[in-house]
Parts: sequence; C-alpha cells; structure tokens
Amino acid sequence: MLNFELYNPVNLVFGKGQIAKLSKLIPADAKVLLAYGGGSIFNNGVHTQVTDALKGYDITEFGGIEPNPRYETVMKAVEIVREKEINFILAVGGGSVIDAVKFMSAAVKFDGDPIDILQKRIRIEGNTLPFGTVLTLPATGSEMNSGSVITINKTQEKLSFGGPAVFPQFSICDPTVVASLPKRQVQNGVIDAFTHVMEQYLTYPHDAMLQDRIAEGILQTLIEIGPDVAENPADYKLASNFMWCCTMALNGLIQKGVPTDWATHMIGHELTALYEIDHARTLAIIGPNLYRVMFDTKKEKLAQYGQRVWNITETDTDKAAHEAIEKTVAFFKAMGMPSRISEYTADYASTADFIVKRFEERGWKAMGERGNITPDKVREIVEMSY
Ligand code: NAP
Ligand code: FE
Repeated sequence: MLNFELYNPVNLVFGKGQIAKLSKLIPADAKVLLAYGGGSIFNNGVHTQVTDALKGYDITEFGGIEPNPRYETVMKAVEIVREKEINFILAVGGGSVIDAVKFMSAAVKFDGDPIDILQKRIRIEGNTLPFGTVLTLPATGSEMNSGSVITINKTQEKLSFGGPAVFPQFSICDPTVVASLPKRQVQNGVIDAFTHVMEQYLTYPHDAMLQDRIAEGILQTLIEIGPDVAENPADYKLASNFMWCCTMALNGLIQKGVPTDWATHMIGHELTALYEIDHARTLAIIGPNLYRVMFDTKKEKLAQYGQRVWNITETDTDKAAHEAIEKTVAFFKAMGMPSRISEYTADYASTADFIVKRFEERGWKAMGERGNITPDKVREIVEMSY
C-alpha cells in the first residue's frame, strides 16, 4: 500500500428531515449568502425548507448558477459577498452550485487575480470563507471533498482546483431530494459516481486490498440500484443508497494508498467545454474507449473487476478483461448513456486535434496511473469516440 494521509473534516448530516438542523450548523449571527442554481429548489420545496430552518438569519440570495458553473457568474457572487461583508456561504444544489461556492470561498480572500486559481491551478491551503452545503443531486461527491470544476466562458476552458481549505464545513444529504430529479440527472449521477470509482480502482494490481473491496462494493451497489432509482427516484431505499454511493465514491477514502488515473475526467471536461455535453455523459463516452486503448496496462485490473463485480467466470485474463469492458458498455447503455460524440454534434471532426493541442499547451503529456496516456493515446481515445 502507498503511504497516505486521510484528512476529511466534513460534518456529513444524512437522512430525512435533516435540513431542519441548519440553524445548529451555521452561527446565529452569520451573514449568509444562499447560493443556488436555476430554480429547481423553488419547485421541490427545498428553498422553503432552508429558509424555514434559517428564520431570523441575515440572508442574501444569489441564484442563477448554471450547470458547469461559469467563472464569470461566480465572480458576480464574489462581488456581493465583499460588498455585503457576508461571512458564511450556503450552497443549495448539485455539484455545480457546490463547486461554484468552493470557488467563491477561495476567491473572496484570494490575494491576486482569482482566475489564477484556475489557470495556474493554485492549491487552496488557507484563508477561505466558511461554507456548508445542502445537496440536491447525488453525483459528484463535491459535498464531501475539496475539489471543484469551473468553466471560463471567455477561453472555453473547464478547469479544476482544490485544496484542504475548500472542504465544506458540513453537508446535509437528505435523500428525499432525489424524488424531484429528472430521470436524466439520476442517470448522470449514477454514471458520474461509477466513473469516479473506476478512476481510482481501474489502474494496475496493487496490495491495497481493502480499498479494492470498498470500490467494488460501491460499483456493485450502483449496478444493483442504478436502473431502478432512475425509474423510481421517490423510493427512499433506492434514493438513500444512491446518495451514499455517490458521496463514498469521491470523498477521498478509496483513493488512499492506491494509484489513480483521472484521464477520463480530464478528456471528458474538454467535451463539456466544447459541446456542453453533460459531465457524466462525456465520461460514458470516453471511459470504455480509454479502457480499450490502454488495454495492455489495465487488463489485469479489468479482469479482476469483471470477475468480482460482474461475476464473470472466464479465467483467461484477456478474455475476462474484454468481457468486463462489454459489461460496462451494456450497463452505460441501460442507464441511457449515448456512446459517441457524434450523437451530440455533427461538427466533431477536429475534436481530437483541439484536445491534444490543449493538453500539450498545459504540459499534460503523461496522464493516467502510469503516466503512459500520452498525446498519441489521447488522440486514439478521442477518435475512437467519434
Ligand atoms: P448540476 O449541474 O449541479 O445540476 C444539473 C441539473 O439538475 C440542474 O439543471 C439543476 O437545476 C438540476 N437539479 C439539481 N437538483 C435537483 C433536484 N433535486 N430536483 C430537480 N432538479 C435538480 O449537476 P451535477 O451532476 O451535480 O454537477 C455537475 C458539475 O459538477 C459539473 O460541472 C462537473 O464537472 C462537476 N463535478 C465536480 C466534482 C467534484 O468533485 N467537485 C466531481 C465530478 C463532477 P437547478 O440549477 O435549477 O437547481
Ligand atoms: Fe465526475
């Protein structure tokens, strides 16, 4: 097992009716910015639950945070926080709202131009504004991690940043919020969480046995409940297990002591920046093709995944690994995921050129757990995805 430090200070408050606890979690004299997205919280009763729980608080609302949150939008909130001397931010929404609030938290106190946080990928170690979250969409794990992804409109870049000072102080995860989600968003959530696990699991054989078993348990649970929760999001048993899987997939636990990949996400982010394809849907396109192109270096783990997660009985490594990829593709299809870029845009011919050029400019020439996802491999993966 590799050496590791595990630090996660998030107070995760999980279950039915937990939004009512907000006043126990935010200081009574706080000046609060309530940040949200396009308005779903007004239709499903979450806004009422939040404001009821925070009666008597000094609250300023900031709405309009878009999916794949924009730097330009988030900076408007930063201005308001500074002007009104707000000292606590509450994110009420999915990964986009939470990521946006992480950026606000860092940018408000940042000494310099906040765009550098993204473009120079500055690690946020201290001096941030405290924030908490009320999660409305299980998917990203952002409620219990210290990462964030922000899109810069001007340059069409989708960039991530993070650091120990941008963990939420608390996150309220009430699975009843899942009931109002459109089917597409539930499907996205399952596939985003599934791919988060794969990025940390599907690398090469190592001796961190427990991490593998936890990862496999999350994958198996997502396979077991995924199709059903997409059909019946109001079923509490399904919704609560779905929500917990998504948090566990990316709260840092399963990545400790093991190599990680993340190239599927890095390539996927470019597809969202270029074509506005939903985050999870980019992963469903890229993931299987990355496993195919990187087959020789991932096949042992692919075979293990196939045998343990999909109960494949084939003992030959190559055959079991191929079967595992096909099982994954079938699962993504059953979860409503298109498998090609051309299903979203007719104008895809230069996608690989564009992405490879960008990665080279950024110096991303050796991605993946072995540093062997080179620009040539990225090109092959993207072209295979057309
Ligand atoms: P999202 O972009 O936050 O939300 C997608 C849509 O779902 C929005 O239109 C939103 O509407 C709606 N919605 C949310 N909750 C709802 C509810 N309870 N009922 C009805 N509609 C609801 O989706 P997401 O998948 O959670 O976040 C995606 C973003 O997170 C991407 O930018 C991705 O790159 C990033 N990400 C971050 C991490 C991380 O670790 N930080 C990991 C993976 C991905 P409203 O706007 O109206 O609320
Ligand atoms: Fe993701």
